[in-house]
Amino acid sequence: MATVGVIGAGVMGKDVAITCAAKGYDVILSDHDSDVLATAPRDIRHLVRKFRMMSPAAAAWKADEILGRIRFGADLGDLAGVDWIVENIVEDLAAKERLYLDLRDVCGESTKIAVNTSCISITKLAAGTPRPHNVVGIHFMNPVPLLECAEVVRGYHTSEDTIKQAEEFVRSLGKQSIVVNDMPGFVSNRLSHLFMNEAAFLVHDGVAEPEQIDAIFKLGYGHRMGPLETADLIGLDTVVDSLNVLYAEFQDSKFRCCPTLKKMVAAGRLGRKSGQGFYTYANH
Ligand code: NAD
Repeated sequence: MATVGVIGAGVMGKDVAITCAAKGYDVILSDHDSDVLATAPRDIRHLVRKFRMMSPAAAAWKADEILGRIRFGADLGDLAGVDWIVENIVEDLAAKERLYLDLRDVCGESTKIAVNTSCISITKLAAGTPRPHNVVGIHFMNPVPLLECAEVVRGYHTSEDTIKQAEEFVRSLGKQSIVVNDMPGFVSNRLSHLFMNEAAFLVHDGVAEPEQIDAIFKLGYGHRMGPLETADLIGLDTVVDSLNVLYAEFQDSKFRCCPTLKKMVAAGRLGRKSGQGFYTYANH
């Protein structure tokens, strides 16, 4: 089985590492923050327990086995020789560009790079790498182990071989690929950030409470989660960063970020991951 290097051990990186390890891949999970790495094994144990309860497909997962396939490290050099890199660091173009510069000497000819970004152009990030044909977007959905598809994003330079291998990789994780072309936000986030942002504006304007807005989506439209529950799950900082990317890229005022969202992030109310967002979470 191939080895997967997962960079960024936040909300998405831990989920991707668990999913890959549960499917038999050896995983190296890397983060530049030593505190994040120190708590990652405990977080992963907690997440595996949660996924086991939530999905029959995960019912037989064993945290010890999954953790036994994951190595943790801060040094990018440890990723030399991996078959796939899945990059999940913060949604910040400059930070991602710096990381791809640092990866120049780590990735070999056969290393494929999957960018798990919400909105940033795959083409732009690939252009800063020596082998842009090996770079593809794999936009995993949150929570990764529970959802059935990933958006595979074809950048300007992405080769057909890389697309095929990405589809195979996604299939090996038990998911279906939906291949789309590169444009900021792709399909999923170009749409979803509009409704999450507008839902925040409804709270901002005093039209309705978060519970009412989410109830209309769940009871009225049959969605599994409402837009503000979704924003809390993603992380409000990531939602704000993504809206900023969409606004900058399209120069379209429809992506202007709701001031209430910015204020909540400034106050440290980041959603589930901080225990408080539009809702309060006891066990985050
Ligand atoms: P997060 O803030 O939870 O985690 C980001 C992690 O990256 C942090 O642990 C941070 O320490 C680490 N990091 C930052 N810079 C780094 C660097 N240079 N080297 C190594 N580690 C670094 O963010 P997240 O929600 O996991 O999102 C990660 C990426 O996935 C973003 O691009 C986001 O847009 C995308 N994404 C998020 C979701 C979601 O629902 N949260 C869904 C799909 C895609």
